Parts: sequence; structure tokens; C-alpha cells
Amino acid sequence: MHAQVLHEWGGEVRYETVARPSVVAGEVLIEVEACSVGLTVLNYMSGNHSRRPEDLPRIPGHEIVGRVIATGDGVSSPRVGERVLTHFYLFCGACDLCHLGHEPLCRNLAGQVGVARDGGYAEYVALPARNCIAVPDGVSPIAATAIPDAIATPLHVSRRAAIAPSDSVMVIGAAGGVGIHMVQMARVFGGTVIGIDRGEERLKLVREMGAVAAFDSSVPDAAQSVRHLAPRGVTVAVDLVGNPATLRFCLDALAPRGRLVVLTTFPGLATEVAPRELVARELAILGSRYASRWELGEAARLVAERRITPVVTEVVPLAEVGSLHAKLRGGRLLGRGAVVPAGAAARSPA
Ligand SMILES: [Zn+2]
Repeated sequence: MHAQVLHEWGGEVRYETVARPSVVAGEVLIEVEACSVGLTVLNYMSGNHSRRPEDLPRIPGHEIVGRVIATGDGVSSPRVGERVLTHFYLFCGACDLCHLGHEPLCRNLAGQVGVARDGGYAEYVALPARNCIAVPDGVSPIAATAIPDAIATPLHVSRRAAIAPSDSVMVIGAAGGVGIHMVQMARVFGGTVIGIDRGEERLKLVREMGAVAAFDSSVPDAAQSVRHLAPRGVTVAVDLVGNPATLRFCLDALAPRGRLVVLTTFPGLATEVAPRELVARELAILGSRYASRWELGEAARLVAERRITPVVTEVVPLAEVGSLHAKLRGGRLLGRGAVVPAGAAARSPA
């Protein structure tokens, strides 16, 4: 089969012919119809997350949509022929945290799809059956690629921060893959949204997706603009950029009892927060790690009900994934991108 293969952490993928994976007990073989392309893939490829030499060579890609074409022993669901999307954490499904529906915190976590085992930059991928969730009828494979991460992650963030109708929610990095769906999700939970990003084209998209206002982080009066709109401060800040400047921007913008949600991290990156500041305004800082299996199903349902619109702005053949990586690195990709293997493109003109 054709696949994009990573041979060194921090390198670029190469389009190659490799052996098709076989299916073993408890797993399914999926014919990939489309795979999402976002910053997390680049983060994984760069080795920021894990750079074990024994994991190479590796096929990246973790937001996968495709048809099940074979099932291993002991698999009753999903069935052959079913279209699925996939949870990308390799959770055990048996520990106390998995039973509580906190799969990303699994005590026996074996890593992530696209890092610790091969992912969806390929014509076929084999994965544990428990990682598969049915794609609802009426949702196209391309639209569905945004569900496993770009839409499910904002659902988890919204639940972590308990976003409710009285909340004003500020999203930093609002036009990116997770950000543009965070804007929509905060509204589904009843919040009003202020988006922060860079450049008029990106801010326009953020407004179109439901933010009451969108401001450019590169202009010096961005903080004042937010303050003008929310004079008492925002009640929730979601930082999808995760550098010391954005974290400080969020803390300064929070109202008393405000909640800051952090989910974008880099090795070695830390920032100073004075306990006095947290106490004086009773601020809360919440870590948010990916999403549960249940939340992926709920995210899919919200898309099927057209309450969330997947924003996948560019689709290219799998062979040309490098062009999307370049756009991502340059901050020029709006929302998410996706790749389609040659076989899948031939089967479906959509
Ligand atoms: Zn577990």
C-alpha cells in the first residue's frame, strides 16, 4: 500500500510503498477514506511528544476515517463495512480510569496513534476495535476527519470548564483546527465567544463561526479590546497557543472566579503564576487532555445534528501532504486540512 512514512523524529515524511497491515485478535483493519492534517501531527512528527527510536519508521496521522474491511478474533463491533472514526489514544479499556470514561488518563496508556503505532497517512490502518466509533449517516468522510480531535477536544474543554449560558469565553488561536471548533462548541454550551487570532482572513472566519468579536493578537491594544467587550473580564479563557505570553494574556483577562483551560503544551515550557493572583480573584487553572471515547460519539452526534460545522478548508491527495504541512507551519491553514489516499479518491468523487 502507499503511505507517508517518517524515518526520523523531526524529519519530513516520504511517500512510499509499504506492506499492508494484518489484522489480529481484538483489532480491525480499516480502509482509510480520509485523514485529518493539523498541528498535532506536526507536533508528533517533530518528536516533541515522544522520540523513541524503536517507534521508527512510523506512519503519522491520527484523525482517521474509513471503512472496516476485516475484523480480528473476538471483535463484535464495529462490523465489516461500517464507517468509523477513531480515538487516537491507545488506552487499555480495562483500568479504573478507562471505566470512568477518562481514557486519555488510562493507567496503561500505550501512547498515541501515529506515534506509538502506525496511523492514517496510508491506504490501510489496523487499530484496536475499542478505538472505533461509528460515523453517523449523513456525515461525509472529509467532514468526519475533524471529529476525533478538532471537535471532540473542544467538547472535553467545554465540559472541563463547565461552560454555561452566562459565560463569556475567550479563545486564543481561534481560527486553527481546534480553535474554530472551540468557538462553535462554546456557543453550543451557551457561552458567548471572543476569538483571538492573527490576520483579517482568520478573524473573519472566527466571526462567521459565531464569535461576537475577533481581535488580532499582534496589535498592542488587543487586551483593551477584550476589556471593552467584557468590562468585568471573561469568565473562561481557552489557550490553544500555550506560550508564556498567551498564558499571561489569559490570566490578565479573567474575571473573578474565572477559569483558564490549558491544553497546548511544549517540553520545558513553563510560566510563573503568583499564588496571590489566583487567591485574590479565586482563579482556576484547568488542564484538559484530549477527550473520552464517549465524547467522540457526542461530537459526532453534534455534527450529524448540524449544531457543529466541521471546518476542513483544504483537501489534497495523500501523496501531497507536504503542501499542507508547509501551510500549517506558516500559519496559513484555516481550520483543518485533510488528505485522501488515491484509492479512496477513485472510489468516491465526494
Ligand atoms: Zn485504561
